[in-house]
Amino acid sequence: MFADVIVDISHEKLDRSFQYRIPEHLQPKLQVGMTVWIPFGTANRKITGYVINITDKAAFDEQKTKDILGIETGIETIEARLIALASWIHQQYGSTMNQALKTVLPVKAKVKEKQKKTIGLAVSKKQAEEYLKEAQKKHHKGRERLLTALLEEKDGRLDYSRAVKELQVTRAMLSPLVKAGILRVDTNRIYRGAFGEMTQDLIQSSPQNPQIPNDQQRQVIAGIRQEMSGKGRPCLIRGVTGSGKTLVYMELIHKVLNDNRQVIMLIPEIALTYQTVRRFYEYFGDKVSILHSRLSQGERYDQMEQARQGRVQVMIGPRSALFTPFPNLGMIIIDEEHENSYKSETMPRYHAREVAIQRAKMEHAQVVLGSATPSVDSFYKAKTGAYALFHLSQRFGDRPLPKVEVIDLRQELRDGNRSMISRKLEEAIYQRLARKEQVMLFLNRRGYAGFVSCRSCGFVAKCPHCDVSMSLHNHSRLVCHYCGYGQPAYEKCPACGSPFIGGFKAGTQQIEKMVQKMFPQSRVLRMDFDTTRQKEGHTQILEAFARKEADILIGTQMIVKGHDFPDVTLVGVLAADLSLNDSDYRSGERTFQLLTQAVGRAGRGAMPGEAYIQTYQPEHYSIQSSVTQDYEAFYEEEITYRSLMGYPPKAEMLAIFGGSLDEELLDKGMNYLKEFILMLDKKRQLQIVGPAPEVVGKVQDIYRRVIYVKYRGTGAKSRILTAVKDRLEHYIEINSGFRNIAIQFDFHV
Ligand code: ADP
Ligand code: ZN
Ligand code: ZN
Repeated sequence: MFADVIVDISHEKLDRSFQYRIPEHLQPKLQVGMTVWIPFGTANRKITGYVINITDKAAFDEQKTKDILGIETGIETIEARLIALASWIHQQYGSTMNQALKTVLPVKAKVKEKQKKTIGLAVSKKQAEEYLKEAQKKHHKGRERLLTALLEEKDGRLDYSRAVKELQVTRAMLSPLVKAGILRVDTNRIYRGAFGEMTQDLIQSSPQNPQIPNDQQRQVIAGIRQEMSGKGRPCLIRGVTGSGKTLVYMELIHKVLNDNRQVIMLIPEIALTYQTVRRFYEYFGDKVSILHSRLSQGERYDQMEQARQGRVQVMIGPRSALFTPFPNLGMIIIDEEHENSYKSETMPRYHAREVAIQRAKMEHAQVVLGSATPSVDSFYKAKTGAYALFHLSQRFGDRPLPKVEVIDLRQELRDGNRSMISRKLEEAIYQRLARKEQVMLFLNRRGYAGFVSCRSCGFVAKCPHCDVSMSLHNHSRLVCHYCGYGQPAYEKCPACGSPFIGGFKAGTQQIEKMVQKMFPQSRVLRMDFDTTRQKEGHTQILEAFARKEADILIGTQMIVKGHDFPDVTLVGVLAADLSLNDSDYRSGERTFQLLTQAVGRAGRGAMPGEAYIQTYQPEHYSIQSSVTQDYEAFYEEEITYRSLMGYPPKAEMLAIFGGSLDEELLDKGMNYLKEFILMLDKKRQLQIVGPAPEVVGKVQDIYRRVIYVKYRGTGAKSRILTAVKDRLEHYIEINSGFRNIAIQFDFHV
């Protein structure tokens, strides 16, 4: 047996592993992630390294392979734990070990430590005043300037470079004073802050009166504490919007910190706003830090370093914060656990929830998940006992949930209104403008990719085999992205004969124009991909809206996530079905989640809220249950559909993505893979769907295809699909035909 060992975990060196033989007596003990002693270089220096892979194949001449000397057992480093986690990710998601390592190990690029040089008084202020008088008498102008400035500082300390620049301090002037023991020059490492321009504001913000949990919140906190001291299953909190999940998190964190353990809290990047940070800062002070995509590499590295050293104990951030190197991790919280951004779209295609659960298992930490609209996967696990389930069913302070009304856009068309804003919504907007309240108009842009529907009757072109929407290709064919089924596009609606059948075209920009024309007096802000492209773009827009510099905010899903605008009393969803027609089996789930969140934006302040959901499919259960805000009703419908059609969580599903510049080669390769799976599946347990073009069939000249493999496992979770993936990886590796095809795997469990 052989082990691949890395000796330096800086980012550039991760590719560079060295192979060693594992002596027989170490073979039963050695595991990936362990620290080992090895002879290194021509002089065989004895150094330590980390095992990243164990194999029975020698990478080069066996005769020349050196032996591992021993296992370091004394210390289990944070790196070793993260490497073991990388190994799990590598096996689970089928990435290379190197991709997995780069995901989990903090960037140890060559960023220089930041240092700060200061000049300070080495004597008391009183003595310093004496020296100042003396300097004045002797007309030592330079000394006079410096001592005066130092005496003015509270801590008697000045930044060195500032002193040089502003006070013209020179070394010749300083050294006699230092020698005489009057002054000191110090160099300290400083850590780059994560809060940027917020810092000053945060430090000055006085701690608010701590909020006291109400009965429901207390029950949930107690319940989770009990689970922690018992089975320690992941805990799922389903709490309606505005029920105060944040306070529950903060109380839990507080208790974990008291046990000298640290906490990672994941939140979607978009929710990482000033409001959130401020609430945590007020509670935990500088024990809290944040990670976000706008930090420089150096700032990022410093956050990780501070976590390793225990200067920071609560790390808040998106997906990547999961790999914060805390020495004694006690809890991982995932807020808005249903969010798509927790799923990585690049290799390794991991899901933060699954990795969090794995890391927590390895480090004996607790996982807490929270959402108003939990993912169907998580809720299913909670229902079947794999997770513990908790409820927060009331908005804090008994604020009512908004009143919701569905508007049938088919009827609007019948009545001659062809615009995107129904008469009722128009009327409601007028009222708010008159009362100086605010309005949010939400255009659901997901699923924009060319589904076809009838504006007269709501008919949507669906695949007869997969029950997902088909999309229009080249204006002439409808194609299913699961199984590849295709048919000519319709010229008239097959259900009602109307000619108003086609793709949906309006975008946020058109809506903005229309709104401005309809309400010329109103001030309108638009938030979408275009207007938020520059740095801080979305913060600026949200803050302007919060300062009431606009009456109407128009936007895509970005506007519905977690923001608190007390003066918003009306939310209009312009076309709820857009996401319903996503060619994806989760489109019903996403629609329900988006609608619930959108509706939840209204009436968070003192005034009650109202929401209008415009749609061509008013009878769909995702829309119906978002009106009543009834998660359980939605879940029951959805799980029945998943069960009927054989989709996760009622079945396991492996997606195999193929990409190539050569379309013919790609089709051939994908068909070979399908044949190979059929051959593996001797017992006919698997259902193979496709190959089919992906939703976006061609990106930058690269053709894309996908095969889905489904397994309707019963009872205990199977590893059948993992085995299929392993065999496919091997097959691809040894077949040169796949050299020009990029294959990626993705599990839906
Ligand atoms: P959620 O995240 O569940 O949507 P939040 O945590 O944002 O809800 O809470 C909603 C509002 O209620 C916030 O303004 C919060 O400050 C307030 N709140 C929640 N719980 C309490 C409490 N126990 N005491 C005082 N205010 C609370
Ligand atoms: Zn029709
Ligand atoms: Zn199909």
